[in-house]
Amino acid sequence: METMNTFNFAGKRAIIRVDFNVPLNSNYEITDDTRIRAAIPTIKKILSEGGSVILMSHLGRPKEGPADKYSLKHLIPDLKAKLGVDVKFAPDCIGKEAKTLAAALKPGEVLLLENLRFYKEEEKGDSAFAEKLASLADVYVNDAFGTAHRAHASTTVIAQFFPGKSLFGYIMDNEISSIDKVMRDPKKPFTAILGGAKVSTKITIIENLLDKVDNLIIGGGMTYTFIKAMGGKIGSSLVEEDFVEMAKKVMDIAKEKGVNFYLPIDGVNADKFDNEAATSISPIDQVPDGWMGLDIAEGSIKKFSGVIENSKTILWNGPMGVFEMPNFQKGTVEIAKAIARATAKGAFSLVGGGDSVAAINQFNMADKVSYVSTGGGALLEYIEGQVLPGIKAVRGF
Ligand code: AMP
Repeated sequence: METMNTFNFAGKRAIIRVDFNVPLNSNYEITDDTRIRAAIPTIKKILSEGGSVILMSHLGRPKEGPADKYSLKHLIPDLKAKLGVDVKFAPDCIGKEAKTLAAALKPGEVLLLENLRFYKEEEKGDSAFAEKLASLADVYVNDAFGTAHRAHASTTVIAQFFPGKSLFGYIMDNEISSIDKVMRDPKKPFTAILGGAKVSTKITIIENLLDKVDNLIIGGGMTYTFIKAMGGKIGSSLVEEDFVEMAKKVMDIAKEKGVNFYLPIDGVNADKFDNEAATSISPIDQVPDGWMGLDIAEGSIKKFSGVIENSKTILWNGPMGVFEMPNFQKGTVEIAKAIARATAKGAFSLVGGGDSVAAINQFNMADKVSYVSTGGGALLEYIEGQVLPGIKAVRGF
């Protein structure tokens, strides 16, 4: 399979599926440019080799065709500044003008296409639409991990029109090799730490991980469904009654498979869901009536940290408590620190999926772990054991 480093881009037009779905304020200024910054190395590499680049992306969720607020034209000044070259713009991602502009590209030039989702064919994975996009270029590069779990025209279907000339950009490559290090070839002991609000959204992940991990640590709101399943007192803590039976089953499977299943032993309780609430500490299975557990306490932090620091591979998804409230963030901070210490000792640590990424960034610790994934839903589906269509389309599995 061709890669960014083997393919000769000289004189070729590369169409790159990037993820430029960035937040804009009411003046159409970019408020977080992380995704654009991340895509720059792939673009620059192709330009520096004498290729030209056609960029395609979605932005927001336009419902009824074109809408100014979702136009990718708002990104042009920022892109120009980051790339240091002019950026041409096709106000329609397919059609005559896009074709003419693409055909006229010279080595080192960049063309940005208008929002792909102005066509409903994009999300439908329409083959004719994908073929029209494909007709603009000589080679296809997928660098949008955040949409790799969607079989859309530009993320998946288009690859078939570039036999032997479909490849991953640097973001995709990094994501895939990092996740594969964890999910396919983990150094042992392998510890997964799962937190966040609900068991229901993580149950498939837990089931899949039970075949791979040595240790499974559970924290956050989902703890209490497990504690209830074991007959503990959880007060008014978050619980999913419909999943209590499932929680029991999961613990039985963990036992059968010889996975060490760790639940918190103590928690910080609050008398209301508020940063200023009165707090108390109790064993995790003795939350007083009217109180709710909002963070893990010292005993749990100590126990979890010991397991984490003895691990060689670590996967972390989901906070240990309501980390958005300063008074209930200590558990999440301390677990992040334990992961950082394990990483410093040589473990490979992958953090990903929504709120744990927000947490690690909030604590300024992103550079203390091995890899922070950019793809929320895509990462979670990968960890669930699903084959992502955007990855399969390029590498065949
Ligand atoms: P998720 O999207 O499922 O990863 O859940 C993340 C959310 O879970 C965050 O907003 C946390 O505030 C919340 N959370 C974590 N621990 C608790 C808890 N003990 N009670 C209620 N919410 C929690």
